[in-house]
Amino acid sequence: MLFPIQRAFIPVILLSSQVLQIEAVPHDGEDNSLLPAFTLVGQGNRDQGNCAGDDLELLKSAYEDACAMSRRAVEDLDFLVDQAKATAGKGPDKKSNKADYSNYRRILDTFIALFGTSPFDQQGNVDVGGPLFVPNDGSYHLKGFFETMVNEKCSGRDIDKRIFCTDNHWEFLKNDAQDPTDPSKTIQENLPQCQTYGGIWYSSVQPAGEQWLFAPPPSSPGKRPICDDRKLAVTHFSPGTITFCQLSLNPNVVLDTIKGFEGSIKPTNTRYGMTDKALDKMRLGDLIKKKDLTSIEFLRDSLSLTFLHEMLHLLTDKPDQDAVDEDGNPIMDRDGKPELTYGWTRCRNLATHDTQLSWGNPDNVALFALAMYFRQWDWSRGYPQPVKKAD
Ligand SMILES: [Zn+2]
Repeated sequence: MLFPIQRAFIPVILLSSQVLQIEAVPHDGEDNSLLPAFTLVGQGNRDQGNCAGDDLELLKSAYEDACAMSRRAVEDLDFLVDQAKATAGKGPDKKSNKADYSNYRRILDTFIALFGTSPFDQQGNVDVGGPLFVPNDGSYHLKGFFETMVNEKCSGRDIDKRIFCTDNHWEFLKNDAQDPTDPSKTIQENLPQCQTYGGIWYSSVQPAGEQWLFAPPPSSPGKRPICDDRKLAVTHFSPGTITFCQLSLNPNVVLDTIKGFEGSIKPTNTRYGMTDKALDKMRLGDLIKKKDLTSIEFLRDSLSLTFLHEMLHLLTDKPDQDAVDEDGNPIMDRDGKPELTYGWTRCRNLATHDTQLSWGNPDNVALFALAMYFRQWDWSRGYPQPVKKAD
């Protein structure tokens, strides 16, 4: 990847307007049955924001992967919790229970890598206030997110959540333009707050109440308000939409699905091959180059991971956290704005320096599920190594 790609999150920028009813949703049993948690616009193609044809097929596969990753995360976390409880936090016995020991280490080591701490107290019970159980955080502590995916979003129907393919359906209407929802008036007469940007973005395919988007005018002709050439997808939690950008729907840029990749993943032959100390000093990128291994970053650049990442935004309202470097200092972009925590290295840095923030950071959570999906390897260093054997 020549440029860092992003999965973005925008808390609330949609304005409400109760003017015109638009019939724009398909009904149960129509062709999005593999995306049960979502309603499609249901008309046209990308130009109308609708996910149809190849776009829809890609999204169905990616959503299946997101569900499969979530299922394995639930299974593995259940295993971890049960084993910790049964052994008073010591974990399965190395000698008498080799397979469970290896599995336990694989899960726990990756968990600690991504969330900075063990989820258990000294007695092996789930730590209240730890990453698996955060009081007052609703059901959306880490495990709760995956359980919600599995038990509700991968089977039930949520008519208030929608996906869009590209943001091509938005058009910028200037202040003196006619209001399409009330043609006797101009935009500025009906929406005086639009003075700031000299107009407002409008979509005719959004349901009533969600047709306006308050954002700056296009910087050049043809530019749209949500996607740009670095964004994969953007979630708006109010009212609950994911917009997949051109970039994420292009299999030449991201993997469409992670299914079937087991066979081509290149792991280390031995568990380390270098001393732990030397490994700790190496950056993941340098190590991958040196060793010709599959980085978890390779699989992260997939529509599957993108979908799971956006689901975390959508269901928990949690934003991407600001990125920190290895010493815990903020990472800024060229314009002096904070960079966000995307990718293995930054997720590790966040887990080390701002541990609690890592527990709800979408890429930390999604990378954990990705690692659990490819469970024949231990991914706790960001690349696949054989699971730790009882010695
Ligand atoms: Zn994000």
